[in-house]
Amino acid sequence: MSDFSIDKNPIVIGAGPAGLAIGACLKRAGIQSIILEQSDKVGSAWHRHYDRLHLHTDKKNSELPYAPFPREYPRYISRTQLIEYLETYARKLQLDIRFGQQIRSACYENDQWEIQTQDTLYHASNLVIAAGYAREPNIPTWPGQDSFKGAVIHSSQYKNGEPFKGQKVLVIGFGNSSGEIAIDLWAHGAQVSLAVRSAVNVIPRELFGIPILSIGIVQGKLPPKLADAINAPILRAVIGDLTKYGFRKLPYGPATQIQNDKHIPLIDIGTMKLIKQGHLTVYPGVTEFTETGVEFLDGKQAQFDSVILATGYRPRVNAFLQGASNTHDEAGTPASSGRETSMPGLYFCGYYVSPTGMLREIGIEAMQISAAIAKNKT
Ligand SMILES: Cc1cc2nc3c(=O)[nH]c(=O)nc-3n(C[C@H](O)[C@H](O)[C@H](O)COP(=O)(O)OP(=O)(O)OC[C@H]3O[C@@H](n4cnc5c(N)ncnc54)[C@H](O)[C@@H]3O)c2cc1C
Repeated sequence: MSDFSIDKNPIVIGAGPAGLAIGACLKRAGIQSIILEQSDKVGSAWHRHYDRLHLHTDKKNSELPYAPFPREYPRYISRTQLIEYLETYARKLQLDIRFGQQIRSACYENDQWEIQTQDTLYHASNLVIAAGYAREPNIPTWPGQDSFKGAVIHSSQYKNGEPFKGQKVLVIGFGNSSGEIAIDLWAHGAQVSLAVRSAVNVIPRELFGIPILSIGIVQGKLPPKLADAINAPILRAVIGDLTKYGFRKLPYGPATQIQNDKHIPLIDIGTMKLIKQGHLTVYPGVTEFTETGVEFLDGKQAQFDSVILATGYRPRVNAFLQGASNTHDEAGTPASSGRETSMPGLYFCGYYVSPTGMLREIGIEAMQISAAIAKNKT
């Protein structure tokens, strides 16, 4: 076990987009940080995501500070292109990343942060937690699940639809992962259903050829209710009446949903077309599993070979952050992101569910955090 004192240099937890952006911004400010990453690569989450994944946000609004995406990349870049970009980013900016360093605990002792990995103790005045909003899969369970004879996996384990060819598959949840996985399963010849428990909003990826994110940015200064009122008739015309297809429509619009529920509505990349064409069946929420399938909230039962839980993720920073309970809620979701917390020298980056895309927000937060750390040092 080694003791690694780095005096006033910041420690950054995580070498995903947020950790890399922080490292880059600090470097530009003349501050060398050390990035501690549990895996053996940068952007490790993007290595694990399903094959078909493309960014739902356009490339102009998804780039990290100081590095535009290559000109030849398409408007909505693929998972592998993002990985390539992150690897180049870390290399070009010569970031100091220590791989295979899993943070087991971080606490504030004697006016500094003590960060313990499996084999090394680090000390730092500034600690930036960029360990990802999607750090842990959220895996709910249902009565009767043990008796179900089929397979149940979380979307984080889904790679592609090949193993599900010819199967009856239920995708539980209606976020951006479930929407895209449903398309992928259908394209691989599965018979696909969606279980949607909550009321929803759906927005197109583009409106009149303009990325929805750019519209969100322009409308960002408006109160969410007003933005929703302006957009409602356009969304109704483009998306149609959701209730006709088995959904319950949220009583408020997408901007209010993001602000209040911290939940991004489905950005439609073709799921709605498949539903309208009758290729995907929409059911209400699941109440229990049977041996051969599930029962839904309306009492109907259906048989399935496999179930995919597209039930999201949790940041759970409280799995390692100790003695700073005022900086996050009981579930470990940070109370703020992009600025110094109530604990001295503690920052979170990448935890604001933004109507203008998380990657764009990460870039903005990284600049704010590095400026704050640079100011505190002078
Ligand atoms: C399926 C999916 C699609 C998405 N698509 C988009 C999109 O189109 N546009 C957009 O703007 N955003 C999107 N997001 C949201 C978000 O922008 C990305 O997830 C992005 O990767 C977040 O970057 P991050 O660095 O905050 O987190 P991550 O990419 O999750 O990186 C966190 C890093 O921290 C490391 N880490 C975690 N815990 C520890 C620990 N205890 N010790 C050491 N290291 C640790 C992890 O190994 C990981 O490498 C998507 C998210 C998901 C899940």
